Amino acid sequence: MTITVAAYAAPAAGAPLERTTIERRPVGEHDVLIDIAFVGICHSDIHQARAGWGAAVFPMVPGHEITGVVSEVGTGVTAHAVGDRVGVGCMVDSCRACDNCQAGLEQYCTGGGPVWTYNAIGKDGQPTYGGYSQQVVVDQHFVVRIPDALALDVAAPLLCAGITTYSPLRHWNAGPGRRVAVVGLGGLGHMGVQLAHALGAEVTVLSQSLRKKDDGLRLGADDYHATADPATFEQLKGRFDLIINTVSAPLDFAAYFALLRTDGAMVNVGLPEEPVQITLQSLNGNRRSMSSSGIGGIAETQEMLDFCAEHGVASEIELIRADQVNEAYERVLASDVRYRFVIDTATI
Ligand code: NAP
Ligand code: ZN
Ligand code: ZN
Repeated sequence: MTITVAAYAAPAAGAPLERTTIERRPVGEHDVLIDIAFVGICHSDIHQARAGWGAAVFPMVPGHEITGVVSEVGTGVTAHAVGDRVGVGCMVDSCRACDNCQAGLEQYCTGGGPVWTYNAIGKDGQPTYGGYSQQVVVDQHFVVRIPDALALDVAAPLLCAGITTYSPLRHWNAGPGRRVAVVGLGGLGHMGVQLAHALGAEVTVLSQSLRKKDDGLRLGADDYHATADPATFEQLKGRFDLIINTVSAPLDFAAYFALLRTDGAMVNVGLPEEPVQITLQSLNGNRRSMSSSGIGGIAETQEMLDFCAEHGVASEIELIRADQVNEAYERVLASDVRYRFVIDTATI
């Protein structure tokens, strides 16, 4: 029997989200039913609810930073049990057989791509619905364990903002002796700063203004500069091994490439809706590179959660009621978020 649950959905692209009900599939052999406690609001939710990245599936229930408690498991489930504290991020399925899936890079599945938590069609041909809802049914492979040291509300944003910054920091070897800049101190940025600091790197925040400087330093940054000040780009020339760009809008990329050392890399996790412009001359000078990175795999997400528990890292959140979601979206768009809105799903 399908399960009827309350949710918040965007009925059409750009329409305000409103309360509704959705159907979840019956709990299958390898499925876990999760009573969702908290769900973060990622800027990607807003891009997609407004169809900013292209055609999207409506009605849309966003939400891919999910934490909660297991309330039922299928007969073949071995990884999780009723009562476990668990999380779900951006993916709920993948082919499991391609080289990337086998290597723990499910987010880069080449066997038809991962099934995203929402704004996608599942293997059963039904649309997927995200975490702005009271319950979700997910295959056990895509469910991770929340360590006891992490409260479920401040852990929710780790499922996207945490892993999306942790994965490139690890891949590009952020650590002692490496200088890392994080561009944009929003949801992703405030996790990037904490994680890069915990990994032992020297961390600089590049924010539009100095408005959040105290917070940035408290979160672990060694240095903080305003990108609105042209002197920043003079002072920091050739300084960084790695720049993690979390900005949701296009930037003057040449100005940021100039801040990289020889062989430095700028990794763009921010995904603007518009195409961006770069000139190859701006990379060519010092064998610099520009890349991008998508979330992280399931095993790496568990590793990141365990790392956060061990190092006392979590999200700084503003807990809201579900009926404040549209207002929260406007505040995210205005860069007025410190540093992640999280919905208490009991208010749905
Ligand atoms: P967010 O909380 O809105 O943070 C973005 C930050 O960028 C803002 O707080 C602001 O920081 C800065 N910013 C915003 N507009 C700007 C502009 N026009 N010029 C310069 N700086 C600007 O968003 P988020 O949830 O962290 O997500 C950020 C981006 O990452 C989104 O595009 C999202 O879709 C994408 N994303 C990608 C992945 C992935 O897998 N690659 C995963 C999750 C999210 P300051 O106020 O400090 O300047
Ligand atoms: Zn996200
Ligand atoms: Zn695959």
